Amino acid sequence: TLSMRLERVAAQVPAGARLADIGSDHGYLPVALMRRGAITAAVAGEVAMTPYRSAERTVREHGLEQQINVRLANGLAAIEPQDQITAITLCGMGGETIRDILETGKARLGGQERLILQPNGGEQPLRQWLMDNSYRILYEHVLRENRFDYEIIVAERAEPVQYTARELYFGPLQMQARSPAFLLKWQRRLRLKQRTLRHFAQARQAVPEQKVQDLTRQARWISELL
Ligand code: SAM
Repeated sequence: TLSMRLERVAAQVPAGARLADIGSDHGYLPVALMRRGAITAAVAGEVAMTPYRSAERTVREHGLEQQINVRLANGLAAIEPQDQITAITLCGMGGETIRDILETGKARLGGQERLILQPNGGEQPLRQWLMDNSYRILYEHVLRENRFDYEIIVAERAEPVQYTARELYFGPLQMQARSPAFLLKWQRRLRLKQRTLRHFAQARQAVPEQKVQDLTRQARWISELL
């Protein structure tokens, strides 16, 4: 069985997809989806040897070698045109890392693929990349598991949209939906930022003015949101 986090990701993979799971680690996501008959083929990409072998083992144990290709590759280099990938999952990595993988691998994107992203932090720069590259955010979700707030962002190429700075920071759809998990996440964030600002105020060493300004602005945005 998958974690709640990966279940939420799995639910966003279109039925019958040809999936590329990049940074697959143990390979649980493509294996679970294939066993359920939810996808038709998959590539599991891994840059590091230990997780690559782990994915290979999971695929072999389930006898799915014909359906799931495990490849040792950096980011989207795992994807070949003949794979005819229709969905890409990039999960459990920092938002900046996911952005860098997308940016570096741009040439491998046909533009038809649905991107299902589960960043651990760094959501703002990731959304910025999506906007700059003509992706529209179709679905967003926040969930809490193991005392950690996880975000899921689903995007597809579409007519360019302009998101505001606040939308890039909080997520345009989440700002609309204001789910309990979303509000709780930002309540916790606000408390942390306020605590840090208090510490800055008491600090003996000078704190860079820019840092204080950024944090103050973020705290103001969050207060206004809540
Ligand atoms: N996707 C799985 C999940 O969400 O449970 C595994 C997440 S694990 C924390 C992150 C994985 O991404 C690691 O196994 C790491 O080796 C892999 N990774 C990091 N950078 C990568 C890159 N540029 N290309 C492929 N895999 C990468």
